Amino acid sequence: MSELRVRFAPSPTGYLHVGGARTALFNYLLAKKQAGKYVLRIEDTDVARSTQESVDAILNAMEWLGLSCDEGPFYQSERFDLYRQKVEQLLNEGKAYRCYCTAEELDAKREAAMKDGRKPKYDGSCRNRSDQPDAPYVIRFRLPEDREETTFVDRIKGAISVRHEELDDLIIQRTDGTPTYNLVVVIDDAEMGINLVIRGDDHINNTPRQILLYQALGYTVPEFAHVPMILGADKKRLSKRHGATSVMVYQELGYLPEALVNYLVRLGWSFGDEEIFSMDDLIEKFSIDNVGKSAGVFNPEKLLWLNSHYIKTGDPVRLAELLCPFLQKKGIAPAAGPDLVAVVKSLQERASTLVEMAEGAAFYFADQVDYEEKARNKFLKPEQKSLFTIIIDELENVPILPRSNLKKPLLRS
Ligand code: GLU
Repeated sequence: MSELRVRFAPSPTGYLHVGGARTALFNYLLAKKQAGKYVLRIEDTDVARSTQESVDAILNAMEWLGLSCDEGPFYQSERFDLYRQKVEQLLNEGKAYRCYCTAEELDAKREAAMKDGRKPKYDGSCRNRSDQPDAPYVIRFRLPEDREETTFVDRIKGAISVRHEELDDLIIQRTDGTPTYNLVVVIDDAEMGINLVIRGDDHINNTPRQILLYQALGYTVPEFAHVPMILGADKKRLSKRHGATSVMVYQELGYLPEALVNYLVRLGWSFGDEEIFSMDDLIEKFSIDNVGKSAGVFNPEKLLWLNSHYIKTGDPVRLAELLCPFLQKKGIAPAAGPDLVAVVKSLQERASTLVEMAEGAAFYFADQVDYEEKARNKFLKPEQKSLFTIIIDELENVPILPRSNLKKPLLRS
């Protein structure tokens, strides 16, 4: 069997969404498990919507999650020559043609089709034209007429068939000369030797068209595994309305990457009734066969529960390092206070996030402690002053206060 080659191919038009992160994770895990290769490709052909800021945000998020790629990142914007060459090939072989229909003409045709109760699709009027007027044009892929349908067996969804009468001649190059997604994704996946495409099921409708393009370009068709969407509690597609959807916002909210990884992998994949998985466990246990067909519902409480688990069981030295920026954000200089590792140890049991831990830790760094008014009135009474003085003196004699000593009587009678 040939080496498994998978890829994650984000479009840099925003931050890395938790759904994208889960797709990346599935690809990464399978590649690691099968000693294959995980390729990262930035799909930035849409020049107007792609930004460097978004590329950086995606790369940062991937690094934070620990999903380093074996090859890449590759940038589609650096591969336009290759795409042009392939479009030329399709034109020369009569598998693509120039379409000079204007936007107004296409709109009118669409309206007329809808009025007649026909499916609004391109009617192919430029298919057989031989002139080349001096006017803007797009390039369309000629839908093959020798077959009536295209079928593939998705590794998650099973067999999927589309009748060609449902499809029309796809635009593969825009008027400005830039190639479109369906063309470049096929060229790149084929040229990069990708043999299993794992991606969100929002692309499932594109797959039959892409298969036709693989065939037209003489490429081997890869296998496909379309991962179901992530939904919000109301069963609608997960969006900002449901809370944070950006991976890096979870970092800012004080989540640990291992908690998010653990949470995302379980959204749509299961292994018996186990809930806690380290990255190594996942690499050993992950398989496409256990990815469910239906969409997973994002549950913020479960993510929080996992985060408290990883904080509770985490290495205090590492947590202390991770805590520093959260303290700094509160105006606290971590070096100016007590041993930070000891601070972390004292808070691991009760902080669910690093933000909560920083809030709890602020006490250790404060020169002046503001007591809650009600508690102060109840406990800090003048007649107790002498008692507190004894406690302070005694505590000063204890260099370190181990947890085990806390419950022992501190004051000698
Ligand atoms: N660039 C596409 C997207 O971000 C993904 C393409 C693919 O995985 O085939 O939606």
